[in-house]
Amino acid sequence: MAFVSLFLFACGEKKTDIQGSVPQQTYEWKLVTAWPKNFPGLGRAPETFAKNVERMSNGRLKIKVYGEGELVPGFEVFDAVSGGTAQMGHAAAYYWKGKIPAAQMFTAIPFGMNAQEMNGWFHYGGGIELWREMYEPFGLIPFAGGNTGVQLAGWFKKEINSLDDMKGLKMRMPGLGGEVLKKVGGIPVALTGGDLFTSLQSGAIDATEWVGPYNDLAFGLYKAADYYYYSGWHEPGAALEFIVNKASYEALPEDLQVIIEVATRAANQDMLDEYTARNNEAMQTLMNKHHVVMRPLPADVMQGLHKASIEVMEEHAATDPLFNKVYQSYKKFQAKVTEYHQISEFEYYKNRSMVSQ
Ligand code: CA
Repeated sequence: MAFVSLFLFACGEKKTDIQGSVPQQTYEWKLVTAWPKNFPGLGRAPETFAKNVERMSNGRLKIKVYGEGELVPGFEVFDAVSGGTAQMGHAAAYYWKGKIPAAQMFTAIPFGMNAQEMNGWFHYGGGIELWREMYEPFGLIPFAGGNTGVQLAGWFKKEINSLDDMKGLKMRMPGLGGEVLKKVGGIPVALTGGDLFTSLQSGAIDATEWVGPYNDLAFGLYKAADYYYYSGWHEPGAALEFIVNKASYEALPEDLQVIIEVATRAANQDMLDEYTARNNEAMQTLMNKHHVVMRPLPADVMQGLHKASIEVMEEHAATDPLFNKVYQSYKKFQAKVTEYHQISEFEYYKNRSMVSQ
């Protein structure tokens, strides 16, 4: 509550109720993010969200958005919102793996669900309820905050021809993907976006995953590594999150609470739309202007990573009841949605590809 400003008669723009007499309370919030200010896709979502909230609330709720490091470092967004330094945050749940290992599943599971399936699980499959239960002890309410769609495997300074080439590889790889990388002999490095380019260019890391062509082009990663591999086995549909300080949220009148809920839902879908439109444009630029050659990771690498992924998930589930609870829900939803998508989405992609040849 300390940072919720109360503007009564002193407010420059007085808001009046329908009787036109009693000035309404105006709130000013801070939203901290784990992305560079206005970064395409990831950073645009909280900006658009904040503008929509201000317009929908007729200026009664103003949200100032801070880029990574402007108010707090990217990896401290969770604590800043939990502690009330800011009322909201926008980040990825797998950044909090040190605090809550199970939170990683709300971003992505290697070889898990894609964006469409994650959204189905969140909003109609019990996912968001489990997420809220998990953040409750921290005084936070999570909302789905966008999705990048299927990512790419990343940028490598050397060719990857077999699983052996992953051994000793120092690669920026957050979340469960990083644990899988470690299991096949790689060395996962935790870095937020702002540090990627220099770390890759200087050779502090040998490889990095980031997002996909749209964001990777914006960071100029093609200047620091020659090989761009697909597919993003580690983040088949990385979900972002909005987190709201629970006490601040509950202090709002109900209409403003609903505005936040609806605006997060709009931002969640909007980010996927943006990535869908921009990734393919950026891929053309990378291939045609910067002559980047994109290549698939070899089948034995994928098989090795898949085997390691199952081991990582089962090990967590066997030792962490909270992790197991979320994993069982996720796994059950994935099994059913995969069965349906096999005859709908997958068959359609296959058929479209076949007739386009
Ligand atoms: Ca990523």
